[in-house]
Amino acid sequence: MLIVSEETCKEVVGRADAFTAVEAVFAAMAKGDAYNFPVIREAIGHADALYGFKSGFDRAGLTLGLKSGGYWPGNMAKGLTNHQSTVFLFDPDSGQLQALVGGNYLTAVRTAAASSISIAHLARKDARVLGMVGAGHQAGFQLRAAAEQRDFEKVVAWNFHPDMLPGLAAVAEDIGLPFEATDREQLGAEADVIISITSAHEPLMMKDWIKPGTHIACMGTDTKGKQEVDPALVAAATVFTDEIAQSVTIGEAQHAIASGLMGEDAITPIGDVINGVHAGRRSDDEITLFDGTGVGLQDLAVASVAARLAEAQGKAQVVGL
Ligand code: NAD
Repeated sequence: MLIVSEETCKEVVGRADAFTAVEAVFAAMAKGDAYNFPVIREAIGHADALYGFKSGFDRAGLTLGLKSGGYWPGNMAKGLTNHQSTVFLFDPDSGQLQALVGGNYLTAVRTAAASSISIAHLARKDARVLGMVGAGHQAGFQLRAAAEQRDFEKVVAWNFHPDMLPGLAAVAEDIGLPFEATDREQLGAEADVIISITSAHEPLMMKDWIKPGTHIACMGTDTKGKQEVDPALVAAATVFTDEIAQSVTIGEAQHAIASGLMGEDAITPIGDVINGVHAGRRSDDEITLFDGTGVGLQDLAVASVAARLAEAQGKAQVVGL
């Protein structure tokens, strides 16, 4: 059995590894070769914490396991990350524990991989301006991964807490992209690709602010009640997602679905585009929207890569069962 620490995950798993692993598992999900089990998430009545499991089985990649963890709001004051998680991988042939893998860094890279996969498959090839809505922990990972998918010339950004924007500006500077803080309407007018990655509970981007041809990756809404964009924008866009069952219940599409603006049948798994079953973007004027809800299989996919690379590089701790 292997133990792979947070630090080792950072050393061995790069953005390209995460992209490849998550793209493969989205493809397997769309073919019915991989499936997520129902998510458990509970307020435990201690330390204000939310705790739960995301699990699944990828028969194509032979990855079985779960991510266990949640949100401890008091952690920041102790110098720890509020989101804490660990991935458990099991041998699908025997059920034996194969690996314990730190899940915090991997959650960020697998989430950034998801939006970057959507950009790779759905954004216009001539996209030049990247709009960032959000500037928290995940935003820098999102920006770095997105920047590798198109020849962006500029980043425009808005955040609910403006004091967090310099942190994102530093990431843009690090990768050599000019950065402008702007208001939301101007962001919509300028951006060819928009990533929203906030914990908002109300629409931040309205339909009338978005240009034809824009690709939007809505990444923050992963729970019932959260919301980042206008339901009319979701209904007007061609919508893709990681998993339809999550998109309509806990994803960005939940609001457009609940208000009857669109039906579940209007949503396409991004795996269908990866597999060539759906064309993806069909015109330069179409607005495409990726509803990235976050599935356990993404975590298992990147954790499996971490375990394999850490073992190969002699960086995993090997423990007898
Ligand atoms: P964070 O706490 O570091 O940052 C929160 C962000 O939301 C900041 O930009 C903050 O300014 C903004 N925000 C807070 N309250 C807001 C409000 N009322 N209105 C608008 N914006 C507000 O969090 P993070 O780790 O960067 O995660 C951001 C979001 O992404 C969270 O909601 C998290 O649950 C979600 N998330 C989704 C996935 C996925 O797979 N889809 C994975 C990880 C995290």
